[in-house]
Amino acid sequence: SGALYLVGTPIGNLEDMTYRAVRTLTEADIIAAEDTRETRKLLSHFEIHGKTLYSYHEHNKQASGPELVRIMQEGKRIALVSDAGLPAISDPGADLVRMTIEAELPVIPIPGPNAALSALIASGLPTERFTFAGFLPRDRKRAELMLASLTAEAGTLLFYESPHRVAKTLERIVNTFGANRRMTLARELTKRYEHFVRGNVNECLAYVLEHPPLGECCLVVEGASEDETAAAEASQAWWQPLSEEE
Ligand code: SAM
Repeated sequence: SGALYLVGTPIGNLEDMTYRAVRTLTEADIIAAEDTRETRKLLSHFEIHGKTLYSYHEHNKQASGPELVRIMQEGKRIALVSDAGLPAISDPGADLVRMTIEAELPVIPIPGPNAALSALIASGLPTERFTFAGFLPRDRKRAELMLASLTAEAGTLLFYESPHRVAKTLERIVNTFGANRRMTLARELTKRYEHFVRGNVNECLAYVLEHPPLGECCLVVEGASEDETAAAEASQAWWQPLSEEE
């Protein structure tokens, strides 16, 4: 009967594909993919043939989402894959999950690789508490506001960024958090040139400026110290009443 399977796929190394992911894709009636060309390559590598692919991405999700729900209501099993890693993490998958739940159809996760968590566990930074911040907004003002809202966060911070924007984002991080927080830049995870740069945010920025092109990167940044959290709370305390008067 109809259901949505969220299928994790490799973030670089094809050996990270799980047996269950292969079986789920093989048995699915339809595969919904962010980039059907990428997914075709994956399917052909695992010798999964004759599948109907349906494109589901940021720019067609309004129309495509309800259509996929209708197909599931007819009793079809849909497997959702993103370009890499776990669907619904920094991609439009989460919207389809919501719609599927609203339609009272089952949602079944098929766990697999994820860039942020892989970066976190190898970062050397605390893992018992963390905040996944995903991509910063493109707009400068919004990006600064988002970073400002994270300054008092004590858990380790995880960011995604596209290769050509890493330097800009690191500059913003240095401007907001100062130069001294520890961080790990995780580059090309699971791929041949996988590399970790560990230092403070300023050292990582210097590395990034010296080593273009970077390939895919995750940024793992130390959370606020107790002093920083206390300072942020103190400043909140006085500016909040003030801003209400505006
Ligand atoms: N759904 C994916 C996941 O579960 O990890 C994330 C998709 S998001 C659109 C793409 C971002 O993930 C990239 O810009 C980069 O920040 C990060 N990323 C993906 N693959 C990576 C890799 N092999 N190494 C480092 N970062 C990666």
